Amino acid sequence: MTRILVVEDEPGIALGLEDDLKMEGYMVETVGDGIAAARLARESSFDLILLDVMLPGKDGFEVCRELRRHGLDTPILMLTAKAEESEKVMGLELGADDYLTKPFGTRELRARIRALLRRAAGEPESGCYQFGEVAVDFDRGELRRRGQVLELTPLEFKLLALFIRARGRVLSRERLIEGAWGPNTFASDRIVDNHIANLRKKIEADPANPRYLRNLRGLGYRFDG
Ligand code: CA
Repeated sequence: MTRILVVEDEPGIALGLEDDLKMEGYMVETVGDGIAAARLARESSFDLILLDVMLPGKDGFEVCRELRRHGLDTPILMLTAKAEESEKVMGLELGADDYLTKPFGTRELRARIRALLRRAAGEPESGCYQFGEVAVDFDRGELRRRGQVLELTPLEFKLLALFIRARGRVLSRERLIEGAWGPNTFASDRIVDNHIANLRKKIEADPANPRYLRNLRGLGYRFDG
């Protein structure tokens, strides 16, 4: 059964969300403050987190940042009160997967939840993914730039696949190590940075001013392709 954590301090909204999600067949737990939410999200395993921004204790941004710092990659859908662009961007940069501006309709909410759950199920990439002058052929394990085949090491290929799957989302170095090197490794942040530098040389027109593989200070890397 799919488990959803609802983090919302307004009882009316929390109850409405809970009822609606339960009717959809999800198992729901609700919590009303940021500190309890961060603890619960780390102790118990959820498939998705609905996270309000304005919360007592710790706000939704802080909760999101804390969870990502600890390597938790549960999809997070932020519920923002205002349609402020800065708020959305901040949430996404801190590692949220999507956002919804209040007030939102239940159909919109259900659609976003389903999309996030599908994405998190992580069907292996197949076919071809293109960005800029680069085409990644997952079936052949090949990368072409302006039609020319470029050699990628298996690790670089794994990293690129991780980035493409999580495009638009910040991935911490910890998360990249776990995804590309696996759990039993001595790989350090430095090694991640070196591999990313090499990857940039292959996919970026100007590796010193990367357009696709961006570094977000203190957070990790984000692929905008
Ligand atoms: Ca609130």
